[in-house]
Amino acid sequence: MAETLNIKEQIKQLVSLQDIDGKIYALKTAKDELPQEIASLQKSFEEKKAHLNSLEDRSKALAVRRKEKELELSSQEENVKKLNSQLFSLKTNKEYQTMLEQIAGGKADNSVREEEILKIMDEQDVIKAEVTKEKARLNEEEKKFLEQKKKVEERVIELESAINDLTAKGKQIIPSIDKRIYAVYERILKALHGLALVKVENYTCQGCFISVTPQVVNEIKMLERLVTCESCARILYLEEDL
Ligand SMILES: [Zn+2]
Repeated sequence: MAETLNIKEQIKQLVSLQDIDGKIYALKTAKDELPQEIASLQKSFEEKKAHLNSLEDRSKALAVRRKEKELELSSQEENVKKLNSQLFSLKTNKEYQTMLEQIAGGKADNSVREEEILKIMDEQDVIKAEVTKEKARLNEEEKKFLEQKKKVEERVIELESAINDLTAKGKQIIPSIDKRIYAVYERILKALHGLALVKVENYTCQGCFISVTPQVVNEIKMLERLVTCESCARILYLEEDL
């Protein structure tokens, strides 16, 4: 034997519950968007590091080039020394002259190498200063990013606490709703974006905004059972009936 339900009373409870569930849905939606917000803050901060990364790459490349030049220079300096030491063992004046020219050539090449190394060192100084400046700028950017991130994280906590409060309020209403009615309501709520119960206004469903026939409106008025929208399947009610 099915107990007779007071449909009007049930709908009144559902209206209160829907009010809460609608708010919960909106808060959850807002909360779900926040990790994306943090990710995009993170991404924009990472992008700001690009200039520093390129400076550091250039700095590494210069260090490699300088090392190469320095090795070259020291081996060629050794070479000049060796030639110098051989100078006095030479037999002919011609050999001596040739060797002198070789030594002079080697020395000239080495002074070009020295110039190159000095130029690299100058460039390294410029980059070093730029790196220092860029690091200070990024430090500020990181502070800003972490502050923004913290705010978003605090917002998550706020939203969670509001959701918990509303969920607790909802739980106080649920026991006064018939189990089968609640099951129908909950199923629609989950399927249709947190909106299971809607008003009919001017013969229009306020969930999907499609017309409701006078016959359906009459059925709702009878308050004998739950009536759902033929288009969106949400539970319908008339405000003036409650
Ligand atoms: Zn509808």
